[in-house]
Amino acid sequence: MEALISIDYTYDFVADDGRLTTGECGQQIEKYLVAVTKKFIENGDYVVFAIDGHDTTDTLHPETNLFPPHNIIGTSGRELYQSLKTLYDDYSSLGNVYWINKRHYSAFSGTDLDIRLRERHIQTVHLTGVCTDICVLHTAIDAYNLGYKIVIHEQAVQSFDAQGHEWALRHFKNTLGATII
Ligand code: ZN
Repeated sequence: MEALISIDYTYDFVADDGRLTTGECGQQIEKYLVAVTKKFIENGDYVVFAIDGHDTTDTLHPETNLFPPHNIIGTSGRELYQSLKTLYDDYSSLGNVYWINKRHYSAFSGTDLDIRLRERHIQTVHLTGVCTDICVLHTAIDAYNLGYKIVIHEQAVQSFDAQGHEWALRHFKNTLGATII
């Protein structure tokens, strides 16, 4: 069994009027991202939706000074974007689909992701979502430091920063030893 970690593909990060949107770049990966996620779910692999969850009263959060408010818990901006939401709604009752509220960029930071992967003897994590050079990057770095093999689905990651996206893809390959497919 392998794991696919689906990162932050929500309304705020993807929709035209999302609070911190990747816009058209993010929208272009929807079809492939949903198809690969569905394939992993149906194959019985472990599929984790690791989704930013912020709280406007959390003024000590470091992102408060860096980004406009986004992915606020309880708002529609935090819902998965369009066909990924449909996919999640269809399959969320399955035992191999798991939702994580994350507070920081990395899906491993302050969550039970590592222990859940180890319970399943998972050694390889596949990463999809946004942004390539922020939450996907920080998740990949933690995965690397914890000893996981990493696969990045190039057609299923994007950013609002084109240069950051390209740099991160090189970093995954050259520095984290990731396979880019
Ligand atoms: Zn955030």
